[in-house]
Amino acid sequence: MPASDLPLHPWPLSRLLERIEREWGLRRQIFGLTARRFFPVPGDVDLIWTGDGLTAATPVGPAAGPHTQLAQNIALGWLVGGRSFELKTVQVLDELEIPRPCIDMEAVGYNVEWSQELPLPLSLREYVKAWVLLAVLRRWEPVREVLGNPGEHLFELSVGYDLPGIQTPVMDAFIHGLTHAEGMIDELRGEIGGAFGGLRDIPIPGRIVQTATLSTFHGCPSDQIEGIVRHLMSAHDLDVTVKLNPTLLGRETVAGILHDHLGFRDVDPAPEAFAADLQFAQAVAMIERLRGFAADCGRRFGIKLTNTLVVKNARGVMPGETMYLSGRPLHMLAITLLDQLHRALPGVLRVGPQDDAPVSVAFSAGVDKDNLIETVGLGLRPVTICSDLLRPGGYGRMAQGLRKLARHMAAEGHADLSALQGGAHERALAAGHPDAVAAYAAALADPATAARYGAEGDLRPPRQVDHVLEMFDCVACTNCVTVCPNDAFLTVPTPAGGDLSAREQYLVLAELCNDCGNCTTFCPEIGSPQVIKPRLYTQPQVWQARGRDGFLLEPGANGPTVRGEGEAAARLQKMLAGDALPLSLDE
Ligand code: SF4
Ligand code: SF4
Repeated sequence: MPASDLPLHPWPLSRLLERIEREWGLRRQIFGLTARRFFPVPGDVDLIWTGDGLTAATPVGPAAGPHTQLAQNIALGWLVGGRSFELKTVQVLDELEIPRPCIDMEAVGYNVEWSQELPLPLSLREYVKAWVLLAVLRRWEPVREVLGNPGEHLFELSVGYDLPGIQTPVMDAFIHGLTHAEGMIDELRGEIGGAFGGLRDIPIPGRIVQTATLSTFHGCPSDQIEGIVRHLMSAHDLDVTVKLNPTLLGRETVAGILHDHLGFRDVDPAPEAFAADLQFAQAVAMIERLRGFAADCGRRFGIKLTNTLVVKNARGVMPGETMYLSGRPLHMLAITLLDQLHRALPGVLRVGPQDDAPVSVAFSAGVDKDNLIETVGLGLRPVTICSDLLRPGGYGRMAQGLRKLARHMAAEGHADLSALQGGAHERALAAGHPDAVAAYAAALADPATAARYGAEGDLRPPRQVDHVLEMFDCVACTNCVTVCPNDAFLTVPTPAGGDLSAREQYLVLAELCNDCGNCTTFCPEIGSPQVIKPRLYTQPQVWQARGRDGFLLEPGANGPTVRGEGEAAARLQKMLAGDALPLSLDE
């Protein structure tokens, strides 16, 4: 694929840092997020997660997906308290055309996107860039004044989808690049300037990942999964987590939960996925074999619950015959599966108070601010979030969840995460359950508790107004800014004295928009914000290649010079004069 046809054109580190410096000076924001929405690690309780030689200042982070695709996405996740980043899944087929729209969050949460949209070399650069960006930000005094000591963070590689693909030279080079990144880090140091110039020579570890999460195709047999785990451990010295599918529950159980318990009668789990996928007994035997292999070679093996669920696509929002269900129903499926695995593997899974059990359990399934306490209280590490961050409030929802967790721990007298887990275990025993996992599974199975996870829950579609969206002015709800995982929307104040009435105008950074469709879902007006609002470019070659779509911004004497057609270009020129634009365009 020619570079100009890529769906995304990430910005260089120098431009990201220049934006941060300018935006902080003008608005006390970073990538559109105001300082008061950052998450300072609390002083009264300890959220540190340690285990298997890893340390992270919180047990939470963004899941592999749209929030871990670009460097600025990862920085936003870090500012709101994420400290464990599962990088968006990479695979050997790195020129896939993803159908659009690829995200449908109107009610439950579906998608049809699955792996990185950038070619492997660009993905590698993006992840190393994010690593350097966080190393700089965590030492930058203005950020430290808000966050205090931000503590440690970690990146996890996520790879798919089969052994031959993972063994190819390009995938090998990608993984090597993340475990031996010294050269690229040194190259990126040359882009650290301006207010950050004093941080150019800070120590930055060259081994970016210690752990890989394996995401497999539906239908991947257990010997293939085991072959990949052995390869990653032996050839790349990585600890490995295998992401399991909710199909392990069997179609009858899944359909019973979705249809009868939660009331999602129109969700049709694809029968072929259940027939082709690993069966429960095979998974249990595989976990036993792989933990033995890991122990023999001095590595760690873990599982992650769960992958998304393949269902028939009957909604007509996204293209294709099938789509992937996530969000709240998946939470219920994943906890049910956790309960079954925990009972089938006594003493093996590291949940509840069993800190020394051999197999760690990571979790990513419908986690939100309202169930983070229960999920973290089970001992699941790390807990990663995706669907919830795609709703209005965006990345800030992670900080809300962490604040709620910290307040709960302080109120209950739990000084750290072990105490939180101990408290959950004690309560479970007192209520007659064998452990906290069983207690939580039983609570979710209770119709009263399950109500919010079901079709009658509060996942209402966004409010609609009977007005066709226009390039300038709108109801100015800011949803397009917060729901965009790529930070591709920004605002500028409306100039005084003109014919526009909204307080702010909304602009698209077209190089960072992959047309995922999420802002269209949450825009209350009729139309697609990413298409209708002014589309801005900062890279002339991208603007030219896209047929001079939108407007090119070039450095100018009084704000940017706007190139583009029609009256709108003149209007934008006036709007962006002076200090209005929180970007720096200097080369
Ligand atoms: S601007 Fe809209 S369509 Fe583009 S990436 Fe953001 S949310 Fe998706
Ligand atoms: S474009 Fe739509 S989503 Fe964005 S601020 Fe305007 S009304 Fe809200």
